[in-house]
Order: sequence, then structure tokens, then C-alpha cells
Amino acid sequence: MAILNIRIIGDPVLRTVADPVTDFGPELAKLVADMTETMEDVDGAGLAAPQVGVSKRVFTYRINGVEGHIVNPVLENSEDFQADHVEGCLSIPGLGFPVKRFRTTRITGVDKDNNPVEVAAEDLLARCFQHENDHLDGVLFTDRLEGEDRKAALRSIRNANYDAVMERTTAKRAKTVGSSFGGAAFGAGAAGTKG
Ligand code: ZN
Repeated sequence: MAILNIRIIGDPVLRTVADPVTDFGPELAKLVADMTETMEDVDGAGLAAPQVGVSKRVFTYRINGVEGHIVNPVLENSEDFQADHVEGCLSIPGLGFPVKRFRTTRITGVDKDNNPVEVAAEDLLARCFQHENDHLDGVLFTDRLEGEDRKAALRSIRNANYDAVMERTTAKRAKTVGSSFGGAAFGAGAAGTKG
């Protein structure tokens, strides 16, 4: 397995609608294994394939000890919303804002071996699924912000020196990210979920 380089906002792959997976061979198995290892390394709550430069409809997740992956996901969201919760994104380092998300979601898709997968999710897991699924459509959490939060986020992105951020090693990054996005910090409401 290998730790993959995480793409940062400004990279076109993050704004590209990802292609469905059609080939369920060893290459996909390796991608899922590497994404899982990368997500764990940076203590992330989720990671979508476009975030590692692969424009395919795959993501991994890791919420409160529940870990997995899903290929070609389809979400059926509830009509109501959950309480806003601060989210971050591994592809937009240092930014965290409360995001409006549907209360529950039912996700269907397949695993790396093309076996059917179905998960009924609520709370953080439902939030994670919506965040990661957005990545597959080229949507970032900052796109979901409104009003002053949106202005503040766009300002931060404009001012951030992301070229410098990109040059940091994954190891350094893991330390930075870990402090704000550990499972404990997340549960305590001190920080947000990051994926
Ligand atoms: Zn993200």
C-alpha cells in the first residue's frame, strides 16, 4: 500500500465530475487500499478518489470507528436537515465552517469486488457520505455555504498560500490535521468532520 498525495483546491480534478467505475480489477483494489491508508494517515473522516487525482466514483469513510468504502454510490437523502456541524476538507486545509446537510441518507452502490452495498446513515455518517459524494460531482463544501460564511471562506481561499501548503509533506500535514480532526475532538464538537 502507499500514502497518496492529496490534491488541494485549485486542482482541476477537484472540479471534475468523476466517471463511474467499470473495471473491478486489481487496480481498483489497490486504489481503495491506498485511499484507506492515506485517510488513516491524515486522520481524515473520508476521502474521495478525485482528492488523490483519480476521477472515478469511489470514496472511503471512517466515522466513529466505522470504516469502509463505496464504489458508484447513489444517495437518497431525507427531506429534512440535521443540525449544522463544522466541516473541513483535506483538500482545503485550515478551513472549517458549519454546513447544512440532510439528516439521513441511504447510500447504495457496490464494493471493490462489485458486490452490492447499502448503508442507512444518520448524523455524522450521513454528513460524511454527502460530503464525499459531492467530491464525485466536483462540488466542495465551501460551495454549500451561504452569506457571510461563504464570503469568509472564499476570502480565506483567495488569501491562502496553497502552493506552500502543497509542498508540505503528508507527515507534517497529518500532525496539523490530526489536532483539529481527531475522532475525539470531533465528538466533543470542538472541530468538524474532515473529508
Ligand atoms: Zn472534502
